[in-house]
Amino acid sequence: MIEFKNVNKYYGSFHALKNINVRFNQGEVTVILGPSGSGKSTLIRCINGLEEISEGELLIEGVNIHDKNTNINLIRQEVGMVFQHFNLYPHKTVLENITLAPIFKLKKNKTEAIEQAEKLLEKVQLLDKKDMYPNQLSGGQKQRVAIARGLAMNPKVLLFDEPTSALDPETIGEVLKVMSDLAKEGMTMIVVTHEMGFAREVSDRTLFMSDGEILEDRPSESFFLDP
Ligand code: ADP
Ligand code: ADP
Repeated sequence: MIEFKNVNKYYGSFHALKNINVRFNQGEVTVILGPSGSGKSTLIRCINGLEEISEGELLIEGVNIHDKNTNINLIRQEVGMVFQHFNLYPHKTVLENITLAPIFKLKKNKTEAIEQAEKLLEKVQLLDKKDMYPNQLSGGQKQRVAIARGLAMNPKVLLFDEPTSALDPETIGEVLKVMSDLAKEGMTMIVVTHEMGFAREVSDRTLFMSDGEILEDRPSESFFLDP
């Protein structure tokens, strides 16, 4: 469903992605590992159009997303993203953070959007916090709200960019639990993380990046048996 064909990405003269050829399939949970600066974040930011590729093709459901004629807003509805630093709207409540995009982008009616948001909050076990503001929540709770917000657009794939790296150790587990539940439900996920437990136990496939290249692309089972 997502395919990189001979993709290169430069920041000025810096070669950040080097001839990337990779395909991400529906229902698959892929973890991307690799040292800091190896291009992991750049790779997934290209998928939702936060970064533009310099050369090659990037297809989502067969549509070349960096074509001038492609509507990037439509792509972003299909590709949800969860960031390291949550990126919640600080002056909106938890519930409003989740309903905003469905109401304004998908033109959902308000009642329907609220009903859906409440279901999602139940799923991430935060329904009781729906009227609070982000700064009243722990890091783990904020990240669970961010996941619920990502899901509210009914995306075909959810991207995670180091979702637990900014969290206190005691709240990491609650976020990984929500992510494992999603994986079990068949959500297509691409996850940049340093959480080896998640990579080993939850993901189907592990990519290892170094210096802008994908050096390994293997079923997680074999990656962790024979690293
Ligand atoms: P990772 O996620 O693996 O840590 P990144 O994709 O964030 O790596 O970054 C890859 C390389 O590209 C790093 O050397 C980083 O400094 C550089 N880079 C990332 N974003 C930019 C940018 N906007 N401008 C210039 N260089 C960047
Ligand atoms: P995060 O890990 O939360 O994504 P980063 O520090 O990796 O935060 O990146 C924050 C922003 O800075 C991103 O938009 C990224 O593209 C940009 N960035 C990262 N490295 C560089 C760099 N070397 N030069 C310029 N911009 C960069």
